[in-house]
Amino acid sequence: MQYRVLGKTGMEVSRISFGGIPIQQLNQEDSNKLIEKALEQGINFIDTARGYSVSESLIGGALQGKRQQVFLATKSMARDKEGFKQDIEISLNNLKTDYIDLYQLHNITNLQEFEKVMAKGGALEALQEYRDKGVIKHIGITSHSVDIIEKALEYDVFETIQYPYNAVETQGSELFRKAYEKNIGIIGMKPFAGGAITNARAALKFILQNQHITCAIPGMCSIEQLMDNIKAIDEMPLTQAEKEALSKEASELGERFCRRCGYCQPCPKGINIPVVFVMESYYKRYNLMEWAQTRYDSMPSKASDCEKCGLCETRCPYQLPIREMLESVKDTFEK
Ligand code: SF4
Ligand code: SF4
Repeated sequence: MQYRVLGKTGMEVSRISFGGIPIQQLNQEDSNKLIEKALEQGINFIDTARGYSVSESLIGGALQGKRQQVFLATKSMARDKEGFKQDIEISLNNLKTDYIDLYQLHNITNLQEFEKVMAKGGALEALQEYRDKGVIKHIGITSHSVDIIEKALEYDVFETIQYPYNAVETQGSELFRKAYEKNIGIIGMKPFAGGAITNARAALKFILQNQHITCAIPGMCSIEQLMDNIKAIDEMPLTQAEKEALSKEASELGERFCRRCGYCQPCPKGINIPVVFVMESYYKRYNLMEWAQTRYDSMPSKASDCEKCGLCETRCPYQLPIREMLESVKDTFEK
């Protein structure tokens, strides 16, 4: 394993770390085995979220007696101070710990949300209060928007940023350089582009070649996946054949690949466009059918609510055929 200091946190973390989304599919016993194996392989950073259903509790259970070996991160979508404080308490309880190494503002999607979390009574105050008490050690932010991360870099508050980076989503490269120069730790999320990139090892090698990225956090739910991911470290650098295969996959994804930037929002019918696409991706690629279907069913507006006004398509910087793509979402979830 290779390690790198995660920016201002000063903590050395494994360059291949552990993303906490797919573990939701496992039971406690299999989670214990997977995490034990991950630690044995030198992984020392685990990232989860309040929003990943049972992920925090499974990880908390698996870390009983091993808490000190891990730099543990989670995050909350709450935007106000009180809601965020409640989430921190739930995380502590789920993770069965009395401190969390890194707590992040989760998925800030637009400037209004950013202003809300930074304002008086906003989520940041909760994080600072808990950091002053020593319960939270470090503060970070996650987003899929270049604008938000750009904005966050103007403040001397965040010790880490978490942003997508992979062979088809390289739009953050310039931001990473800026963050790196400010000694902010850079956590590359979505290393497989939401499961769209099938060659996991090549995908990870591509990310690790970027010297600005501190670590990648591939989601894993089997020991086989874990071991395959780990091999990327030993097999560096990326070969010419892998480079070509990644470019081929990237060009095949082409037009119909949502980068979750959120620029298409808001939809007058209330459809959360990037989220319904993510749900479809979880359903089809991560094999999280039941989980994705439940999430989709609980959404107030569905793909079938689209009145095909086309407004979203005028805003999408990738010129995605959103209306057509929503038809596929409808076929997946609303059969
Ligand atoms: S085309 Fe459909 S999804 Fe797009 S903005 Fe209009 S109603 Fe919303
Ligand atoms: S549909 Fe386009 S604008 Fe909307 S989130 Fe996806 S990539 Fe961004």
